[in-house]
Amino acid sequence: PLTANQIAAGEVVERPASVIKELLENSLDAGAQSVYLKIENGGKDKIIVTDDGFGMNADDMCLAFQRHATSKITTAEDLSQITTLGFRGEALASIAAVSRVHASSRQREDAAGTELKIEAGSVLSTKPSGCSEGTSIEISDLFFNAPARRKFLFNASRETAAISEIVNRLALSHPSVRFTYYSGPRLLLQTPGKGRLREVVASVYGLDLAEKLLEINYLKHDVELSGFLSPPQIHKATTSNIVFFINGRYIKDSILLNTIKEVYNSKIPGGRFPVAILNISIKPGSVDVNVHPQKLTVKFDRPEYINSVILAAVEDCLSRPDT
Ligand code: ADP
Ligand code: MG
Repeated sequence: PLTANQIAAGEVVERPASVIKELLENSLDAGAQSVYLKIENGGKDKIIVTDDGFGMNADDMCLAFQRHATSKITTAEDLSQITTLGFRGEALASIAAVSRVHASSRQREDAAGTELKIEAGSVLSTKPSGCSEGTSIEISDLFFNAPARRKFLFNASRETAAISEIVNRLALSHPSVRFTYYSGPRLLLQTPGKGRLREVVASVYGLDLAEKLLEINYLKHDVELSGFLSPPQIHKATTSNIVFFINGRYIKDSILLNTIKEVYNSKIPGGRFPVAILNISIKPGSVDVNVHPQKLTVKFDRPEYINSVILAAVEDCLSRPDT
């Protein structure tokens, strides 16, 4: 019979990319300046995430892998004030239920760290460890105990592509964090972590493209829009290069996407789309992030208003004399 953790795992943990999203978000929530990711075989055999964040002590470590033990939500109002990427306290437990975990962590102020091994949700061992500050989590053999799910995964290159999309987005929304990402021996992404979005864009899309993007900086009342847009002569075959962040969190929003597509419609040949990296900063209280377990969709208090600001900002940017 399935345990509650295994059932929850179905919501949070669909494939290696979703595991990586959760692990990287935890590193960012822990204030990491530098995050290292390595995958083997599209993440199906191994995923390693190492950060230099604030770490966990022995008690935190054991709690972290228990479901909801760490939920940051205690009242309904809390939901609107969330500033961390994680808040449900179920990701690590869900991941541990369907894999082999080897975690180690040390808080800055502690002399020693802790090492923890878990298999299919059962703790195998915990012991003190001489690890460095921060946290390292290694996930092996994802879904080894859920063969139906394991069978459902795509080949390594397709899983790697899904992982790269997640890593790129997180890197783009956190320019001050240094991301290093390897698939086996291959370096797939390295960002400088100096806080300059254009440099991250260059790491992700190449220097050539990054140099041609238009900068956008637009403020209207309590909505601030910043980022980069391609001029109409630069276009791609898919919409996957149009990315939105709300207060540093990646979201999918078909209304915002349509707005961008419409602005470019008359300028770009049919079936082609711009590159756009747009950061929307608004008061945490005016957006609800708790719509889906994967936290990709949000609800705005005033969607028409946000949309009109984006429309104005993009048109403003494209009508600048240098385009
Ligand atoms: P959530 O992120 O929703 O709180 P998770 O299951 O992802 O739930 O993580 C549980 C808890 O474990 C976090 O709230 C955090 O306290 C701790 N934790 C997880 N990863 C890290 C990390 N890399 N560094 C420090 N603490 C971590
Ligand atoms: Mg989390």
